[in-house]
Amino acid sequence: MPLEIIDDQFMVCPDCLMIIANDDASGLDDSLSEKEAVEREQEIREAIAETQREGQIAVGDSERDDEFSVSPCACCGTRLAGQRHHCVILGSGRKS
Ligand SMILES: [Zn+2]
Repeated sequence: MPLEIIDDQFMVCPDCLMIIANDDASGLDDSLSEKEAVEREQEIREAIAETQREGQIAVGDSERDDEFSVSPCACCGTRLAGQRHHCVILGSGRKS
């Protein structure tokens, strides 16, 4: 069954994007202590897993990135203002 976009405005913070796009959380240690980075990674991975129950997260159109936003990250929910990257949710389109 072809996947279709079920959410075309899934704006995520740079931390989430890093894990969604590259499955790589190593950049988290840049701004956090080792312990904080581990906790943050776990928080993000749980948020991603939660979202994946509805559909698959895919990196969207970088043209639609937001340079600065105060809206919470659609994935982990951080309220830290900053960049938001455009992602989409792909699903089968069936409502559960
Ligand atoms: Zn996030």
